[in-house]
Amino acid sequence: MNKIIENITTTALQNPEKICYQNGEETHTYQELLQKSDQVASFLQDKFLPAKSPLVIFGEQQFEMLVLFLGSIKAGHPYIPVDDASDPSRVIQINGVAKPSLILNWSNITDFGVETPQATKTELQQVLSSDNNIYDSNKSVGLDDDFYIIFTSGTTGTPKGVQISTNNILDFAHWAQEKFDYTDQMKMLLQAPFSFDLSVFDIYPGLMSGVTLNVVDKDTTKNFGKLQQAILKSDFNTWVSTPSFFEMCLLFRGFDEEHLPQLNKFMFCGEELTHATAQKLLKKFPSAKVYNTYGPTENTVAITSVLIDQAALDKYDRLPIGYLKSNMEHKILGSVDSKTGMMTGELLVSGPDVSKGYLNNPVQTQKAFENIDGKIFYHTGDMVSEAEDGLLYYHGRTDFQIKMHGYRIELEEVDSLLGNLKQVKQSCTVPLYNKKKQVNKMIACIVLEDEYSNLDTNDLTDTIKNSLKETTMEYMIPNVLKFVKQLPISKNGKIDRKTLIGEINE
Ligand code: AMP
Repeated sequence: MNKIIENITTTALQNPEKICYQNGEETHTYQELLQKSDQVASFLQDKFLPAKSPLVIFGEQQFEMLVLFLGSIKAGHPYIPVDDASDPSRVIQINGVAKPSLILNWSNITDFGVETPQATKTELQQVLSSDNNIYDSNKSVGLDDDFYIIFTSGTTGTPKGVQISTNNILDFAHWAQEKFDYTDQMKMLLQAPFSFDLSVFDIYPGLMSGVTLNVVDKDTTKNFGKLQQAILKSDFNTWVSTPSFFEMCLLFRGFDEEHLPQLNKFMFCGEELTHATAQKLLKKFPSAKVYNTYGPTENTVAITSVLIDQAALDKYDRLPIGYLKSNMEHKILGSVDSKTGMMTGELLVSGPDVSKGYLNNPVQTQKAFENIDGKIFYHTGDMVSEAEDGLLYYHGRTDFQIKMHGYRIELEEVDSLLGNLKQVKQSCTVPLYNKKKQVNKMIACIVLEDEYSNLDTNDLTDTIKNSLKETTMEYMIPNVLKFVKQLPISKNGKIDRKTLIGEINE
């Protein structure tokens, strides 16, 4: 049996009636999770799909998505979670790279425009109400096999599939369980989409510990009033989110310790936790434990952590990202900063949380994963510095990857998408930062093809944005299109993105 499944099963059998999933009024027990995922495994093994072939699992944050994830692991297939907010073109791209043998579709979309066969929601509903639950657990996903593959943005317009194995997750889960004291008394906010590995902070260490996952889904997140109600009426005691999501909730009146006394632990990951945000948090929830954690998808969710208390806030202007997990090695490619005396440069990490690379993409894998003295080190692309005691500080990226509202975006990819449009001769997309140094907006500076250069800019903006909508996700679309005559060019003749970033943020 797969080791993670074994762990979840052992915990679940101690208290099968325990609620594992709650979304508003909807609840499901651990027993249901176990039984229904057996039914999915049985259905999948009856299909005799190629061994270990990946499956796309398309949907939102429903209970059934978790059932499908576990079912596919039990049957012996890694899964690729794709959020139903993605348009069909995302599925086409992922399908092209991953070549899945089946799409498990828990949505109402009928056609993804790919040849890959799909199991529709209706079909899956029948599976979940059938009596067939026999499957061969010897064929389940193994320790070093891929468990899930999460697709992130890529520089050339083709997304990269990060392969995460059972061993990778086990190592992360054991660390998280110990570091953040997971117990079966925990009720955890689960807000991140399942296609974002922040959700794994909740799902695997959580289910292995017998927690209740309190889902706040996309519909709720999008609607201010509904979200306010969901958060203020909730009884969860553990918060997991990006700092951006938390900041949004800071606007709710009554979002404080007095009204939510049970909420006493906050874990953040995915982007910078600013001093201002952490300070507001501790003002509202003075008794809470607040953790900043850091990690790229390629390193399985998070690899550092640090407790942010009032003493830390008093000591640091920019908060540290924490201490690296003790079983990981690291190198900092850079030099000693003369001002701070700290080693500063790009962070490279090696160890049991590091992915084996990008699925079917040896070129990008070789670029990012380097063999140094027989060990694989992942180039995080993050600039850090390290204090004598090992505490790490984040100083931004070495490349043009940004985080906006928690989403990871490679600016080159946005330009590659813009470059496919007939109106665009050249483009350079840059971030606009707010006072807290967070990316507030993406501004695309565009040189138009001559025949479009005299058209009305409002019309052009609408047309270009609408065309982008057909090929990419909402969050990848620049907020502002700025039509310019020319772009700055660097000495070696390339578009000078750094200069443009400076100009836009002047
Ligand atoms: P993702 O793969 O979507 O989890 O994004 C990983 C990237 O997000 C990292 O390489 C960092 O650039 C950024 N990141 C994640 N956590 C933090 C943090 N606590 N502070 C600053 N940046 C972070």
